[in-house]
Amino acid sequence: MPNQAVSGILESIRSSEKGAPAVTTIRSISVQPELLGDLVETCRIRLPSEACGVIVGKRAGDEVLAQRFILLRNVAADPLRSFRFAPEEWVRIYSETQKNQREIVGFFHVHPRGEPYPSAADLAGWDGSGTYWIVGSSGDAPAVRAYALRPDGKLRDLALPSLSRPGRQNSV
Ligand SMILES: [Zn+2]
Repeated sequence: MPNQAVSGILESIRSSEKGAPAVTTIRSISVQPELLGDLVETCRIRLPSEACGVIVGKRAGDEVLAQRFILLRNVAADPLRSFRFAPEEWVRIYSETQKNQREIVGFFHVHPRGEPYPSAADLAGWDGSGTYWIVGSSGDAPAVRAYALRPDGKLRDLALPSLSRPGRQNSV
């Protein structure tokens, strides 16, 4: 069964991540404002669906360097209200990043009508590794926030550069 093969790979990814040291000590993110702007725009044009995917980059000590984001297909039963990565895409991206000596340093998804704060379901679905990014779309001002899980189990709200919104003042 292909599905069993996929879940077997996912399971081995999970257990290898569990063995990784210091998954909960991320204190800062280094990211270009342009990448944030691209991420928000990429998510916006897919509304009302919840876009989701991974942030790829490097990790050096307490700091995560976010270099790019990769959109993954959302295979949730109701993609307007939740998200679930397409397993085959997730497995492919995982092995590609390893091959290229990059890391998956974060996960992102959109709250199409909400603030960029993780829901209880979000927290239940996250193993605490890397960083957790949410693009919020309530009102007309998009916002993105990123979190890391602290050793005490609480969330650390990581500082991100502010979003530039070119041309906004010219919009009608
Ligand atoms: Zn969420």
